[in-house]
Amino acid sequence: MTDTATNEQLAVATPQKNQLDERGLLRYGKMLIDGQWVDAVSGQTFAAIYPGTGATIANVASGDSADVALAAQAARRAFDSGPWPKMNGSERAKLLWKVADLMEQNIEELAELETLNNGKPLLESLRVDLPQSIACFRYFAGWSGKVMGQTIEPEARANALCYTLREPVGVCGQIIPWNFPIQMAAWKIAPALACGNTVVIKPAEQTSLSILRLGELMMEAGLPNGVVNIITGFGATAGAALVEHPEVDKIAFTGSVEVGKAIMRSAANTLKKVTLELGGKSPNIVFADSNLELAAKYALSGIFFNQGQMCTAGSRIMIERSARDQFMEVLTARAKKMTVGDPLNMKTRMGSLISQEQMERVLGYIEKGKQAGAALVAGGERVGSQGYFVQPTVFDEVQHEMEIAQEEIFGPVASVITFEDVNDALRIANGTRFGLAAGIWTNDIKKALTFAKNVHAGTVWVNTYNMTDNALPFGGYKESGIGRELGPAALEMYTHSKTVWVELG
Ligand code: ADP
Repeated sequence: MTDTATNEQLAVATPQKNQLDERGLLRYGKMLIDGQWVDAVSGQTFAAIYPGTGATIANVASGDSADVALAAQAARRAFDSGPWPKMNGSERAKLLWKVADLMEQNIEELAELETLNNGKPLLESLRVDLPQSIACFRYFAGWSGKVMGQTIEPEARANALCYTLREPVGVCGQIIPWNFPIQMAAWKIAPALACGNTVVIKPAEQTSLSILRLGELMMEAGLPNGVVNIITGFGATAGAALVEHPEVDKIAFTGSVEVGKAIMRSAANTLKKVTLELGGKSPNIVFADSNLELAAKYALSGIFFNQGQMCTAGSRIMIERSARDQFMEVLTARAKKMTVGDPLNMKTRMGSLISQEQMERVLGYIEKGKQAGAALVAGGERVGSQGYFVQPTVFDEVQHEMEIAQEEIFGPVASVITFEDVNDALRIANGTRFGLAAGIWTNDIKKALTFAKNVHAGTVWVNTYNMTDNALPFGGYKESGIGRELGPAALEMYTHSKTVWVELG
């Protein structure tokens, strides 16, 4: 972790590759529709901000229903009469691989754009977000042309040949959040394209820039016009229009539970396929028989990575009573040593939250935690007066029913809950409306596997936390979502199954 940042350090933001123009702005501003870079039909723009200082770094086109219609029609044409869905799988794979190669060649620029627009540490953009996004394109390039149906013996008739085909769904509307912009774009675009679909993607209004640069690289790679379209803009206008548009066959969304529910309601009008990856309040459960030092280290990275702005954040750290004092000593000492710093400094491990609004939301929850009687043992304050930096914060003695133990804060706030035994741990772990992920720390294999079986979560980590992999399905139980991303499971989400019956009798 870096030394405590001063206001001066926080104010310093010196772009390396992405030089600002004479107005102090980056060049990104147009949207990608049918292979052309265009302004919004309305001519409106909105500001892209560097959260490290709050400064405007670009003016981005503000798309609405008129632009969404153009993009949806372009994607429709590219799907219905363009070369993409009919192309050999190996040719599509070559193009996806080329996108990955171009991302790799421009990795520093992309990483810096990500940090400039999101406020996350440059080191993480460069060493985590970008490599994982590049690998995602390569992973799904490997699936191109390998999506297969089955031959199935009919149950009632022997003299028929029956098989299934897996066919692309068509035009995919993809709406993504601001916490991992380019990675979320990769998780959505790569499997959709591998299966032969076309895409209209809407980045979060806070973080359009790295995705616009990705759009340039996709065109440079040689993707046919209209295969990927990028509409920048706000949720209530551009996002809602994408969900409503009749030419869009599927919506893949990552974001808040509330917006996910609204999308599902709206998608019902056209019965679009919907996959939703929503919030979480994931428990990270530490049993007394585990390696407490290691568990404490991972508990902190599990909540403070990406400034806690992760759907999988291990925001409920649960500790067995008999090990509580020992664990809390390590956890608190380590948490107090963690500091925030200038996101563009390669030594920084915690950067800025995304926005003033998010910072105020997080500080509001910290206040609620104090008022509810939880014990603040680390952090709790804003850092500096520029940008949106909040100290890594730990509350001890949190009761399961408190708001800070039930609601997704999406910031650097850990709630520590003490439990008595396995049954108590399971009751608390499963006692929220979410079910995205869970961590279990124990050296007892039977306890680990039994717990993994009984906890309500789409992903369970045993003696680790926050591991995702392009090959492993990811998604939620309960209000954490519908469907799975990544791995072979993603291919099912981006294809229809068609049954073919050939009568032989
Ligand atoms: P967060 O709380 O993390 O900002 P949101 O769910 O509000 O999450 O936003 C995630 C994505 O959903 C963003 O791209 C945002 O613009 C979009 N969005 C927000 N509201 C709507 C809506 N009503 N319809 C479609 N998309 C929306």
